[in-house]
This record gives sequence, structure tokens and C-alpha cells, in this order.
Amino acid sequence: MSPLRRPLRAVLAGAAVLALVTTGSITAPAAARPADRTEPPAYSAQLDRAQPEDAAFLAAKECSEEPRDLPIHQFTDHRELGIELDRIERVSGGTVDVEQVGRSNRGREIWSARVGTGRKAVLITSEIHGNEKTGTDAILDLLSWLGTSESAKAKRWREALTIVAIPKMNPDGAELDRRGNDLTWQEVTARYPQLRGSQPAWNYYTGTRQGDDYSTRPGFDVNRDYNPDLTYTPRREDFPGSSDQPGWYITPESKVVRDVYRGLAAEFGEVDTYVDLHHQGACYVMPDDPDEFVTLSISGKFVSDPATTPGLEKYAPKYDLDYSKRLNVAVYNALQGKANDRPIFGNVTLYPQDLHLPGTGLGSFALNGSGTVLFEVRGQTQSLGQKYRAVLTRAVYIGLDGMLSAVASGRVNQLDPAAYDAIPPRGPNIGTGDDADAQRSRITLLEN
Ligand SMILES: [Zn+2]
Repeated sequence: MSPLRRPLRAVLAGAAVLALVTTGSITAPAAARPADRTEPPAYSAQLDRAQPEDAAFLAAKECSEEPRDLPIHQFTDHRELGIELDRIERVSGGTVDVEQVGRSNRGREIWSARVGTGRKAVLITSEIHGNEKTGTDAILDLLSWLGTSESAKAKRWREALTIVAIPKMNPDGAELDRRGNDLTWQEVTARYPQLRGSQPAWNYYTGTRQGDDYSTRPGFDVNRDYNPDLTYTPRREDFPGSSDQPGWYITPESKVVRDVYRGLAAEFGEVDTYVDLHHQGACYVMPDDPDEFVTLSISGKFVSDPATTPGLEKYAPKYDLDYSKRLNVAVYNALQGKANDRPIFGNVTLYPQDLHLPGTGLGSFALNGSGTVLFEVRGQTQSLGQKYRAVLTRAVYIGLDGMLSAVASGRVNQLDPAAYDAIPPRGPNIGTGDDADAQRSRITLLEN
């Protein structure tokens, strides 16, 4: 972040608060909204009434991907996350167990929250890209409910599942409100002397990206730093690498998640499900209706078939694409089930399927046998700010709720993987600005 950005953002944030205070009592949009019959999430519900109308969210007119400074103060920052996790652990009476599992490169705590005693392990991460923030709030909603509810459903989940969440797993990027973490190549080579003199990793940012200037504070796309070999240590000959090659665990943040994943795999035999919560461009439209924006894209496929991919053959016996497809169908069905009441939840599409990204967390953990689910809700902070925070957090929550219910009950195994292939593909990005051009090109696949 340039020194100029933060003061501007603070000013805008203040203005937004004023706007909400002055307009909230006049328009009262929440009153006109149809009832939503899911158990209400405690943590973010109070902000819902301050959000714009669904009609404004859905109507695809002009849309800009040009990065700009927008208010984000309603999202949970790192300090607030620590306080909220502490509160949830306390009021749950220990049902939710919060633990510091590591630190970011700049020393910020990375926490995990564990709930349930079931035999199926589910790992959920959010904010690996620090400008993609709704996943963290959806996780807090989920933990808050699951930690305290005495409903039959919550009890069933806690008996069948062991859920481990690592919200805001890239806290340095999150505090800078940018995609990359805060780590220089010099720091990497100091830690791994065998890499001295080699070219920096291909996913090292030193220029401008999504409106953020990395020249004075370089960083990495942490979501290209995973490797399906969970014991991999960095080797000079594997640099600079490329998007179709595995990563290296050179970022402290990916290492923390890898360590938690390995611990769960050792404890449970395998990690049943891995979910990673992201945002994509703001201006994708529905394939059959260019007048409506996509609310959420999902996916369960991140790598080519390992059976026929040189170097990945040994992962083929564990890789289970059909299970990932079933998990995604559960997400899709849950959101379609809400679409009658609130059409915004029906605009769900399939994320591009022609990817081979073994350096992503999802790709690496899928190769280790986990069912995998990618959430990509609409609009990163540089294009939407917090404007649709509540409804997008709700969309993530509904998807997670449906998927976890299906895993807890075992119903997931009855879902048809072919239904996944029938989910409509994402339509085009109709946005304007340089970033829209990038999203329309092949770079799209690397920027979400
Ligand atoms: Zn992302």
C-alpha cells in the first residue's frame, strides 16, 4: 500500500458511516426483504439492514474493475478477529478450541479454531488473499453458531465432524488490504540459503497489482506456494517455477496451513474436506442473462488428472474428483434452495475448469485425497469495498451450511457428480478498466 492510500480510505470510511446513519431510517431496505429461514448467524446479522437492495446488486449495468479506494471498516480486521475468536471460545465453554498455530512473516498471530469430535475432518481457510474478506466473517458466523447451539443439527454436526478453521490465514496481506503477503525475496534467501543466487519465485510481486504498489513492500501470492509433497523443502533447481508447477512452502503462512493439514491427516487418516474462501472479479455476468451479475462461482477441480500428468502419478490413487464434485453440488443445491426467497442466492456458476494449479492449497490438498471446494464470491475490496459485505457473507454461509450438513449426514455420497458438470459456467466479465482487460484474458485464472 502506498502511504497515500490509507488516509484516503479512512476518510471514505468515515463518510460511509455518515451516509448509513442519515439514510438508514428513511429507506429501511431490510423491512422489504423476504424472510430467510436458515438459523440467523449471530455475528454479522446486525449489519444486514445497512446494505443496499438486492436489485441493485443483481442488475448488471455499468461495472468497473478499476482499482479504487473504498471503505472496508465493516470487515473484521486482525485485532478484531483475535477478540472475536476469544469471545467465541469463552461463550462456547470450550466447545470451540482456539489455538495460535503460527505467525505471519511480520509476526501477526495465525489462529485455528476447532469444533466437533467427529471422525470426518474438515479444514476451512479464508483470506489467503488479503483483499478477499467475506470468508473470515462467514467462518466467525459459523463458529459462533456451532459453538453455542443446542439444536439437533448442531449436535449432529459436532458428533460427525471435526471442523478446523483458519480464518485470515494471510494476516499481513489482510492488514495491507492486498492480495500478496509482506515478504521480500531477501528474507526468503536468508531463511533458505540454498536459494541464494537463484531467480525469485514467479509469484513474487514487486510492481503494481490490483491498485497496490508492491515496489516498497514486496510480497508473494501465497496461494501459489503449496506443494502436494507435504514434506517438500525448497530446492534451488525448482525456481523460479511457474503456474503449472508446485510451489515451495517458502511463505510462513502456507507452511502454517500445511502443518495443520498434516496434523489432521495424521490424526484422522485423511482430511475429508478442504474449503478455501475467495473473491473474484466484480463484473462477471450470468451466462444466460447478461443483465445479472454472478453472486458466487464454485469449483472442485484445480489440477489436471494426476494419473496422466507427469510427476503427479503417485497422487492418482488418492485423488477423488467425484467427491469434490459432490461437495460442490451440495453447496450449489443449498444456494438454489434459497433462491425462491431471495433470487440473489441463485446466481451461482461454475468457476473455469481448465486449470492446472498444483501450487494452490486446493490443488495440493486435492492431490492428497481431500474433497475440495473453492468459493469465489463477487468483487474484491478494490472494486466493491464493503458494499455487499452482508449478502456475500450470507451466500458463503449458506453454501458452507449446505455442504457441512451433507457431509455430517453422509447425504453427500448420494449426490450425483454429473450435477456438478451441469452447473452453468461463468459468463463474461463486462467491467471496464485495465483490471477488467486482465480478467478477460488468460490472467483471469491467476487473479481470483
Ligand atoms: Zn483469491
